[in-house]
Amino acid sequence: MPKKITKKIVKKTIKKQSVKKPIKKTIKKVSTKKQKGYFNLRGMKDILPRAGSTFLDVFHASESVAKFYGFSYVESPIMEQANLFIRSIGKGTDVVDKEMYVFEDKDKTKVCLRPEATASLVRMYINNGLQTVSQPVKMWYWGSMFRHDRPQKGRYRQFHQFGCESFGVDSPVVDAELIVVAYNVLKDLAINSIVKINSIGSLEDRENYLVELVGYFRSKRSYLSEESKKKINKNPLRILDSKHEQDKEVIAEAPQILDWLSESSKKSFIKVLEYLDEANIPYVLTPTLVRGLDYYTDTVFEFFEDEENLQEKKQNKEENNSKEEKTSIALGGGGRYNKLVSELGGLETPAAGFALGVERIVNIIEKTKARELRNEEESKDKINVVFLAQLGEQASKKALALVEKLRENNFELYHNLAKTSLKAQLEIANKIRVKHTLILGQKEVQDGTIIVRDMDSGIQEIIDQNKVINHLKKILK
Ligand code: AMP
Repeated sequence: MPKKITKKIVKKTIKKQSVKKPIKKTIKKVSTKKQKGYFNLRGMKDILPRAGSTFLDVFHASESVAKFYGFSYVESPIMEQANLFIRSIGKGTDVVDKEMYVFEDKDKTKVCLRPEATASLVRMYINNGLQTVSQPVKMWYWGSMFRHDRPQKGRYRQFHQFGCESFGVDSPVVDAELIVVAYNVLKDLAINSIVKINSIGSLEDRENYLVELVGYFRSKRSYLSEESKKKINKNPLRILDSKHEQDKEVIAEAPQILDWLSESSKKSFIKVLEYLDEANIPYVLTPTLVRGLDYYTDTVFEFFEDEENLQEKKQNKEENNSKEEKTSIALGGGGRYNKLVSELGGLETPAAGFALGVERIVNIIEKTKARELRNEEESKDKINVVFLAQLGEQASKKALALVEKLRENNFELYHNLAKTSLKAQLEIANKIRVKHTLILGQKEVQDGTIIVRDMDSGIQEIIDQNKVINHLKKILK
């Protein structure tokens, strides 16, 4: 018979529970879980505040140059049919064979996270009747790409690309214009770059060349690295950009695609180079540059940081005893792909494009910034920047309106409305080395004034709040 529940039993049960300490155990379990926490997946990075602002700088530079050259912004989905990329990039490439995030969706469709966006834009061009509008159709994009790469510096599993694609015109000037756009984005971000460029000809040129190349690599098989040996039949072109020291000598002696180009490919390539000369774009003819993706025809190119800059950085690194990798990695790449639109079901349409790797660009800018900061000579006072400090609730309310007024008048301003102590705020102002700080306390709010402090001399002036913008304009001139 069940016991009758009395107050006494309830009390006893509660007491028993507290004696048995199960609650403590649960707490312990929860706190262990908390300590363990959650971590980013390998190769997937957060973009933290400092790099975040550089990331946006890269976005704005890309936007401004792409717009200027007549490219329209587009977005394609992050998830696509896996076959779109398998077909376009090609089996036998690292991206398709090893790096794609492919999985089955709930409806059993084979989908993937996009490893790049060119094929997506080709699909977009075909499916939305863009072939019927006036050509060229010029589009730019920005977004996350996913590749299950071996994570290392500059190589992530989720990364961003800025890219431009130009559809509908087969002309060397289009190839050159794309290179100019990418070059100028980097230039606007104060990165001196150099373009490595090659032509891999038409598909027919390449077929003839490949027979010769495979024959050559077979004859040198025993000298090649294991990885390259595997590529002789699978993807012999890729042996040309092998990073193995052991392969270098064989590659140097290999037949060059430039000798196998048809007259029309040769002519068109020479014209691209002439346009680049005219536009003062520094380039290096690189016969071993083939790019990793199957869909390219004729012009191919990659961007690298200029060697002179690198040299300087390497010296700096040596001085700083840095263990960072010293070889340069591509900042971006692209080329012409005249067969891809028809391969993916559209009408025969010439096209060309490029993609820049945003993280690699951000890394360079961040490193440069850090170097500049280290350099005492260069970290001079921020003359044109103002810090706004406030004391008390009334002042912080007023400060909010003042911040807006300063923004409207294009002042560069630092403030921290969450800080309440004047000392803490002046410390920040000193740390970021501004030349002037505005101080707004309760008294100033009541008087309708504001203090302008010269941070070097400590001299303070009391100014009418209505006149502070003009006053700043005068002293910051
Ligand atoms: P691709 O078309 O594969 O040459 O990629 C164009 C650019 O995207 C490269 O030059 C890199 O700057 C960037 N990129 C490619 N793969 C990665 C990766 N795994 N992590 C970061 N950036 C990448």
